[in-house]
Amino acid sequence: MEFIDPALLDYCEKHTSEEDALLQKITRETRAKVLMPRMISGHLQGKMLEIFTKMLNPKTILEIGTYTGYSGICMARGLSKDGKLITLDINDELEKMVRGFFEESGLADQIDYRLGNALEIIPELPGPFDLVFIDADKFNYDKYFDLVIDKVSPGGIIMADNVLWSGKILVEGGKKIDKDTQAILDFNSKIQEDPRVENILLPIRDGVMMARKI
Ligand code: SAH
Ligand code: CA
Repeated sequence: MEFIDPALLDYCEKHTSEEDALLQKITRETRAKVLMPRMISGHLQGKMLEIFTKMLNPKTILEIGTYTGYSGICMARGLSKDGKLITLDINDELEKMVRGFFEESGLADQIDYRLGNALEIIPELPGPFDLVFIDADKFNYDKYFDLVIDKVSPGGIIMADNVLWSGKILVEGGKKIDKDTQAILDFNSKIQEDPRVENILLPIRDGVMMARKI
């Protein structure tokens, strides 16, 4: 489902600061060499992440789901001077490529890229996190939220991507709901009902839930 008229989207992109050469290269190489290139954040969402992060100027960011590093680099650009981005991914096949992109970004010494299952790594991380970007397997969004919430600083932000799930969250009566769609529906309701956060669901790209810890 397209959420926004393609002509309007094109207009938005034309009025969003251009992707630099590195982000263009990551997009190109992801499309050419990597499975499921649709998962990459892309121009609009990347710039949104970058500007939000610059506004927040966090000391510690946790990203769950690195993929080819696009979103991580966008966020790392907004880190405070001595800040750190910890980014997790279970797919070690992309490691060499991603480490190369982090080197090219000039921010590699602020990026702690760890391979493994986020469900096992997060409990070992001390926090506090000023910003968390949840973008790994949709089935575990709920668990990721539970694992991080007590480690998020007051006023810290948790963002979760793809929460409109190509529109599949609008379930038509009688239709069977697949397990990822159900997981997203449960996650969105859980955030909406959790008194520890105030939240907004932004209809950007595939939907971004932004929750601020009170
Ligand atoms: N944030 C990236 C896209 C992430 S795609 C961007 O915007 O450009 C989702 C990623 O989550 C994939 O690379 C996948 O390998 C990873 N992933 C899936 N399950 C995971 C798990 N249990 N632990 C860590 N990473 C996981
Ligand atoms: Ca995503």
